[in-house]
Amino acid sequence: MNEHTIAPSTLHRWVVDLFRAAGADAREATLAADHLVEANLTGHDSHGVGMIPRYVLSLLADELKLGRSAKVVHEAGALLAIDGDRGLGQSVAHQAMQIAIERARRDGVCVMGLKNAHHIGRVGHWAEQAAAAGLVSIHFTNVNAAGPLVAPWGGAQARFLTNPFTVGIPRADAPPVVLDFATSAIAGGKVRVAHNKGTKVPPGALIDADGRPTEDPGVMFTSDPARRGAQLPFAEHKGYALAMVCELLGAALTGGETMRPENSTMKYAVWNNMLALVFDPARMGTGEHFEREARGFVDWVKSARLSDAGRALGGILLPGDPERISRERRAAAIPIDAETMSQLDAAAASVAGRFGGSPGPLSALATSA
Ligand code: NAD
Repeated sequence: MNEHTIAPSTLHRWVVDLFRAAGADAREATLAADHLVEANLTGHDSHGVGMIPRYVLSLLADELKLGRSAKVVHEAGALLAIDGDRGLGQSVAHQAMQIAIERARRDGVCVMGLKNAHHIGRVGHWAEQAAAAGLVSIHFTNVNAAGPLVAPWGGAQARFLTNPFTVGIPRADAPPVVLDFATSAIAGGKVRVAHNKGTKVPPGALIDADGRPTEDPGVMFTSDPARRGAQLPFAEHKGYALAMVCELLGAALTGGETMRPENSTMKYAVWNNMLALVFDPARMGTGEHFEREARGFVDWVKSARLSDAGRALGGILLPGDPERISRERRAAAIPIDAETMSQLDAAAASVAGRFGGSPGPLSALATSA
């Protein structure tokens, strides 16, 4: 038995019940479920409910704190520093973005730094929150956890994590353009998913402990940390350079912690720090020009003759299209691999063991194939 499927609404309810059982209030539990199930719907299983076992470990180790709120700790004009207070990322990032959105609506722009948030998941979710309010957003995010995974360009040892870069652009007559990717060749969670499924990762994504290219995700899960491999940045030196900027703007500038050993003091938590530039495109003074030029340019790009890869994709896509297509495909059922499912069942059992209740095993609600 390799895969389970589950209706999104059933999965959502189970996630809410699990977080409620662990002590979250209804709002926090619902935001967690909204975000994690949405990540699965968009096809990013690496950032979906498969993260829950890690969150539970972090919670049980008293690293992740439930019931925390995002707090404004500094402001100067359009600049705003917010502390996530080690709270659930799905909740404190939502609050921080809401504050930035309100400021950008009022003042035209808000440069918001969020520090000390537990894993904020799929960052595109936050760009979509801004886009739904008619705002452009640009996000530089760093990741801080127990150990580095990604090697700098030219390095044979990991020094940082998968620092995502994200841009959301709302359009009046079309869905938003959402660029949202890890600066590693593949997201860290995708290495975990490949390892759980027993599949290989694409070439160019990993090196072993000796710096040699490999497609075996197992090199990242060795028991001896000294023999652990590393992920590679995407696009060689360019991905590395962007990851560096995410670390400097996302963490150092926002008051957050960069991925130095001195800052990696916790065992299970995944922390994110994020700089978000949120602004109102309607106040750029370009009016109709933006919509006209954007539409014309997109049409021009899509008119290119297709390659074999383009034919396989069904045409030229825009950033954000694959996630929309996935949402449609998965609207009735979300697949969950067997290893992830057993980790989720175990997470529910640990919540029951510590807090005295849980929604029970997720596998009991899923269909198996
Ligand atoms: P990915 O490689 O799947 O790339 C996704 C991006 O590429 C999206 O913007 C998508 O719309 C676009 N895209 C994909 N195919 C396209 C096509 N044919 N044409 C045009 N655009 C296309 O993403 P990833 O690097 O695996 O990252 C996955 C998720 O992981 C992201 O949501 C990211 O925010 C998240 N992430 C989070 C953290 C964290 O610490 N919170 C860290 C790393 C990554």
